[in-house]
Amino acid sequence: MELKLYDTLSREKRVFAPIDPANVRMYVCGPTVYDYAHIGNARPVIVFDVLFRLLRHIYGADKVTYVRNITDVDDKINARAARDYPGIPLNDAIRKVTEQTAAQFQSDVTALGCLQPTHQPRATEFVLPQHAHKSDMVSLIKKLIDRGHAYTAAGEVLFDTTSMPDYGALSGRKLEEQQAGARVAVDAHKKHPSDFVLWKQSSADEPGWESPWGRGRPGWHIECSAMSAAYLGEEFDIHGGGLDLIFPHHENEIAQSRCAHGTSTMANYWMHNGFLQVEGEKMSKSLCNFITIQDVLKDWPGEVARFNMLKTHYRQPIDWTVKSLNESVNALDRWYEFAGDADPSDPTRTFLEALADDLNTPQAISEIHRLTHSSRAGVMRAGQRIGSRPRPGELRACANFLGLLTLTGSEWRSKAVQDTSVDVEVVQKLIAARSAARKSKNYAESDRIRDELTAMGVAIKDAKDAKTGEMTTTWEVAR
Ligand code: AMP
Ligand code: ZN
Repeated sequence: MELKLYDTLSREKRVFAPIDPANVRMYVCGPTVYDYAHIGNARPVIVFDVLFRLLRHIYGADKVTYVRNITDVDDKINARAARDYPGIPLNDAIRKVTEQTAAQFQSDVTALGCLQPTHQPRATEFVLPQHAHKSDMVSLIKKLIDRGHAYTAAGEVLFDTTSMPDYGALSGRKLEEQQAGARVAVDAHKKHPSDFVLWKQSSADEPGWESPWGRGRPGWHIECSAMSAAYLGEEFDIHGGGLDLIFPHHENEIAQSRCAHGTSTMANYWMHNGFLQVEGEKMSKSLCNFITIQDVLKDWPGEVARFNMLKTHYRQPIDWTVKSLNESVNALDRWYEFAGDADPSDPTRTFLEALADDLNTPQAISEIHRLTHSSRAGVMRAGQRIGSRPRPGELRACANFLGLLTLTGSEWRSKAVQDTSVDVEVVQKLIAARSAARKSKNYAESDRIRDELTAMGVAIKDAKDAKTGEMTTTWEVAR
């Protein structure tokens, strides 16, 4: 199967060719652990989980290495620790904050059906050379200085962006443009305004490591250069993250890694997910529309959140709305109903081809919907299902591939009932009773049942099957 991926650096969709098909390597920037992850943070985790599953399918489950880091050194973490634990030494407070937040993140993304990456390194473990033969931040910075790509100034080590002729290629920002809007006073010690920090000094109570440049801590970007090289080598296949990371984070990772290793490439494919907004607005604390993964999981089953994320192509923006979540519940409900207790067979070719086309999950989901329709046409006649292929098994296989339909029917019903306040079983029974009433031409009764459903907040829709002439009824929660 030919996999095509959109690469932000070359700005085109290209056929994916791994450097080594026996070890396909992907790195995705993970969370900074100082607060609960919000639903926007869940997007790259879910998107790249689907890519991980697809790569494992194509190359073999043991032939893919997926690294997603945890950023546990950051000034935002220090500020949060000082605020939440004023009575204890800062470093102990920091450990509490990062451990709790990382554990919460882990349980959030597990509830969203994501597989564990192959490695989840923490930045603090890669500051100094402590792992045999593994890259670390201090050694990388030393290399950058030795090769003339970094300098020290005002207690910091800075990357010299003018030392790299094609700096800015990923984001398309030219150094000259950055000069124009620079705030010179703030950056007085920098040779060029776009030069960025590799290492900065720490005060006695801030987290710090002894280095050739005094006790200090790393800048943000160098972490990912060190951790990706530690597990994936100097050049690897795919690097991912959200759109906001293109500049400065990924631009600077490329600069550091290529200049330290003397390579022309850091990763062959740079993939970025689009942004998520909530009910048409940018998510922010001040607008009071800031939703954590926890908040979502309180109201909706994890599969609903996952389905809702995958309905949109990963490069498009998502508008996260209650209406769309309700539609996701209904779609999943139909899938559960249709899959019944069928075991998964194999995902269909059309489904896999959709995913292989730059992870076209909306197309893959349409294919799953099509499987439910095609089977409806294949009605029971003389006790036998017309249509030779076992579509429920294929539906389950496709849905499972996306990390969906992983519950039993009754587990799903109890979750959907609890989380959406509509008793799915009751609704289905009423719809069946209404169909029976219509068949026996008892229209007063069928109208009464429709009213009862409307009063429960359930909207129903009848459709005639073109081939069989049979009437089918679908429903959704009308909120
Ligand atoms: P952070 O912890 O802010 O570094 O973000 C972790 C990941 O979530 C990064 O890949 C971000 O690009 C991504 N991200 C943050 N906010 C959003 C959002 N609203 N929509 C989609 N992705 C986001
Ligand atoms: Zn990163």
